[in-house]
Amino acid sequence: MEDLQSALKDRNMTVSTIADKGRCLLATRDFYPGEVIISQEPYVCVPNKSSVETRCDGCFATSNLKKCSGCQVVWYCGSKCQKSDWKLHRLECEVLSKLDKDKRKSVTPSIRLMVKLYLRRKLQSEKIIPSTAIDNYNLVGALVAHMSDINEEQLVLYAQMANLVKIILQWPEIDIKEIAENFSKFACNAHTICDSELRPLGTGLYPVISIINHSCLPNSVLVFEGKSAIVRAVQHIPKGSEVLISYIETAGSTMTRQKALKDQYLFTCTCPRCVKLGQYDDVQESAILEGYRCKNEKCCGFLLRKTDGKGFQCQECGLVRDMEEIKKIATEVKALSEDKASKFCSTGNCQEALTIYKMIEKLQTELCHPFSISLMQTREKLLKLLMELEHWREALAYCKLTLPVYQRVYPAVHPLLGLQYYTCGKLEWYLGDTQSAVKSLTKAVDVLRITHGTNTAFMKDLLMKLEEARAEASYQQSSKDE
Ligand SMILES: [Zn+2]
Ligand SMILES: [Zn+2]
Ligand SMILES: [Zn+2]
Ligand SMILES: [Zn+2]
Repeated sequence: MEDLQSALKDRNMTVSTIADKGRCLLATRDFYPGEVIISQEPYVCVPNKSSVETRCDGCFATSNLKKCSGCQVVWYCGSKCQKSDWKLHRLECEVLSKLDKDKRKSVTPSIRLMVKLYLRRKLQSEKIIPSTAIDNYNLVGALVAHMSDINEEQLVLYAQMANLVKIILQWPEIDIKEIAENFSKFACNAHTICDSELRPLGTGLYPVISIINHSCLPNSVLVFEGKSAIVRAVQHIPKGSEVLISYIETAGSTMTRQKALKDQYLFTCTCPRCVKLGQYDDVQESAILEGYRCKNEKCCGFLLRKTDGKGFQCQECGLVRDMEEIKKIATEVKALSEDKASKFCSTGNCQEALTIYKMIEKLQTELCHPFSISLMQTREKLLKLLMELEHWREALAYCKLTLPVYQRVYPAVHPLLGLQYYTCGKLEWYLGDTQSAVKSLTKAVDVLRITHGTNTAFMKDLLMKLEEARAEASYQQSSKDE
């Protein structure tokens, strides 16, 4: 712990404790938007795995993969990634190779993450892999596990998984209870590693980053460059204040956010947004984000449930929507999304999925407030499907429909808002509307240079696209002038 404090001191940080919240990370100098507060390599990490997708264990790439001939479980894109991973994988490969075929199939990413955790601890204790102040097992030991808050069912699952880890490792002295507790630590502390466009690639444990607490109105953002976790300030963080990131999707009513935090992270948020729960403007906000639209199509009022329970009344014009009618549409939406949409999406049938999502969108437009999150999410799915199908013009139309909702639900500097401007700009440019593309790409750069920095391949590509679009726009302008 002292080592950690002195390592953090050099980075202008300190670990402290707050009542009810436990450990927290404080800034010991002012930080400004776009500045890197802290970065960390994972203690251990694993790529995602699904029936349709395999990734390199070293860099998470999906192409040119070869299976490790030893264990037949792990994949690499080439000898560079295989070599860099070898000290740890040599041990993992050995234990995985001893498993029979059926057992090997049950080695999920979470199981592998745990096996790697123990192997890395062993290698560090034997000094085969060096330890540092921010890279050692004691930091994992210090993470919260919330064991007393976990339900029986979850405990049984963790015990089963722990048992499998014990079978794989074959270490007689290993403690099943400790492994189960570590699974619980993973659940509340591990991070989903994403690419620059926030698509999930894998899972990693970053024990120092895990000290950073949550806020639904955070002053910092966590992004990944390859496997490195980078925390950047998105607001001015005055000396002495706590560094805060968001653990969840912050677009949602206070009730929805609180439920997500309780379910996965087992705590009740008391951030400035959450303390407003139940106050009039909070009730209004949830009625807009998750409630119904007014019967009068031209009215943008929000609806609240009538005291007699028979319907929802518009707070702007007083019109009442009948409970039965609302229930009917909601049931239709639910049936479509659960049965059909997910089926077509999982089989990769874009055209069919498009048809279903358009039906859902039509119903939701009738049902939900124009700023509804679920309507925005449906349109987001339609946008992705249309891009997949290369229907660019329609994709752009949907992208533009989602933007006002993004602007409403996210702060001005938020990676998802920046990325949405980026998509918009790319589509506009592709469709020949260079002037608009320059505007959208500029907005994207304004946000993403703060959240993502300017050094990654992704950002360099975006900055170059903006330069090219600008050059083309001014060329078009000058040829018009002549
Ligand atoms: Zn690789
Ligand atoms: Zn292997
Ligand atoms: Zn909150
Ligand atoms: Zn109304």
